Amino acid sequence: MNKLLFSTMAIAITMSSCGGQEQQAEKPFDYSVDKFADIEVLRYRVPGFEELSLQQKELIYYLNEAALVGRDILWDQNGKYNLAIRKTLEGIYTNYNGDTTTTDYKGFVEYLKQVWFANGIYHHYSMDKFTPHFSQEFFAEQVKAVPAEQLPLADGQTVDALIEQLSPVIFDPTVLPKRVNQAAGVDLIQTSANNYYDGVTQKEVEQFYAKMKVPGDTTPISYGLNSKLVKRDGKIYEDVYKVGGLYSPAIEKIVYWLEKAQAVAETDGMKAYIAKLIEYYKTGDLKLFDEYSIMWVEETASTVDFVNGFIESYGDPLGLKASWESIVNFRNAESSHRTSVISENAQWFEDNSPVDDKYKKPEVKGVSAKVITAAILAGDCYPSTPIGINLPNANWIRAAHGSKSVTLENITDAYNKSAAGNGFNEEFAYSQEEIDLMNNYLELADNLHTDLHECLGHASGQLMPGVHDDALKEHGSTLEEARADLFALYYLADPKLIELGIVTSPDTYKAEYYKYIMNGLMTQLTRIEPGKDIEEAHMRNRHLISQWAYEKGKADNVIEYVTRDGKTYLKINDYEKLRTLFGQLLGEIQRIKSEGDYAAGSALVEKYAVKFDPKLHAEVLERYAKLNIAPYKGFVNPVYTLVTDEAGNITDVTIDYTEGYIDQMLRYSRDYATLMK
Ligand code: ZN
Repeated sequence: MNKLLFSTMAIAITMSSCGGQEQQAEKPFDYSVDKFADIEVLRYRVPGFEELSLQQKELIYYLNEAALVGRDILWDQNGKYNLAIRKTLEGIYTNYNGDTTTTDYKGFVEYLKQVWFANGIYHHYSMDKFTPHFSQEFFAEQVKAVPAEQLPLADGQTVDALIEQLSPVIFDPTVLPKRVNQAAGVDLIQTSANNYYDGVTQKEVEQFYAKMKVPGDTTPISYGLNSKLVKRDGKIYEDVYKVGGLYSPAIEKIVYWLEKAQAVAETDGMKAYIAKLIEYYKTGDLKLFDEYSIMWVEETASTVDFVNGFIESYGDPLGLKASWESIVNFRNAESSHRTSVISENAQWFEDNSPVDDKYKKPEVKGVSAKVITAAILAGDCYPSTPIGINLPNANWIRAAHGSKSVTLENITDAYNKSAAGNGFNEEFAYSQEEIDLMNNYLELADNLHTDLHECLGHASGQLMPGVHDDALKEHGSTLEEARADLFALYYLADPKLIELGIVTSPDTYKAEYYKYIMNGLMTQLTRIEPGKDIEEAHMRNRHLISQWAYEKGKADNVIEYVTRDGKTYLKINDYEKLRTLFGQLLGEIQRIKSEGDYAAGSALVEKYAVKFDPKLHAEVLERYAKLNIAPYKGFVNPVYTLVTDEAGNITDVTIDYTEGYIDQMLRYSRDYATLMK
């Protein structure tokens, strides 16, 4: 539940305020790799990799391999037909020798790029099935031209049967239309096309897992996290992801590379938690996963760190099943000073938050925060990636053992540099005053928002006895993100940050407030298709906060819509009052979470997070289209290569940034195919 996605979108940032770090002469780095549909693919740099020790580089290399071999797991989790569709589309692409200028072919290539980006046929953010802009006839004809051994034919399946099987899944908008359905009033499991369940109803799922819960258990395992729930012959079974279980061919390879990593791990603590992770992958025992999580969170000495596992549950409308992901990274020592100061003062922030005392943590344990440099992104973190992560997710582990919070600065940096000068702020900000605020302070304010959201926001507060992690059900993710965002927003404006020396100007927070409100009420709507509601948890959270603050502040005109030359703008008239409102909402959402008050949480989400003015939406879409900016971005990874001497000893690991998007996707499908050969 604790992944922060990039929310700034395409805000232009000049580097003037932070020029100090930008002084060294650098070769110009081309961040843009590819652009299609609503996507721009970027590349990111890995500064500091060359300076790592040989052992650290080798460790990263093995962990990277352990990350990349898990790719097919996520594809399969995201939809039953994804792997077969990928193989079929890639077969067409690599064998095609017809006219590349036709509408069909161009539509086909765009579709393939979209499917690669989303790890399947559903948009990574809206969860809607992609609409192919090529004909079903073109598809059938091209499949027939692919050599049969390059097609994903099941035993005895003919090419015609394959075409018949896949065509409705790709072309019929009514077949499996949505990966994650959050719409109220229907069976969320049966109307979601993810591959976490087969043949079961929402009620059966809820009953199945309710039975597993032990009343009064203070260390509950995350039931259902690493399995698919299926009905066979009228009985319900969990198919567990493990060696010898579901996804075994992929997990065996992950284990192989983790064992290599274990041998060159930096510290004994790291060696031990890798060993535990391997044991968990071999058995599927979620108790071992908790033990691993505790060991992982308590190991803070090593420079290199990684996540590799079934972690986040955004892909399941009930928030039980976790998608597979991996990120390998190393500490950015310079920037980590900022997060250390924040985490050292975690108790002060907790004690002074505008939340009822009984919902506060009496003792904030082991919140460790660092700024990291990502070395590889994989699974559910690739190509679309978070800019901040706070783990583990189990509340009782966070309360008793703490959590690790990271800000991915090389990723944020790539977003910002690639967006510089794109005209976004000039189009949407109310006046030069707001543009200047953002130009001067937004880079620091955004990074700080991420630090505070991850390190303190998610880590704050406590549940009342007997309240379960999943009490808020389908609204849990939205409300959890809102809680973390509000914590960050509230404290961004606190004089304590100046006292701690993290912020110098008292106007810094205003840049974030303005951007947040503008994004929450207006510009994030660029990601929504006409006629649709807001669905994604982070977007719902931002709309909830902004809309609530707008309505509650109406009497005092805190936030105002202004129309000028036919265009709508947002103006914040009272920043201090806005902070007070953020504090009030934080208090209420923390209460909802602590009490497990589903009814109140649901009412907040339904009232403030989902619906918006269609007229404003149309206007925003029109203004945005003129800027020609892709609303979603993601990344290709660098390529790492082992260098060995004549005797076969490893002498170095090199890094290369030149691989393109299509090449990387085809290479991954070739070299890291585990579940679909
Ligand atoms: Zn978060």
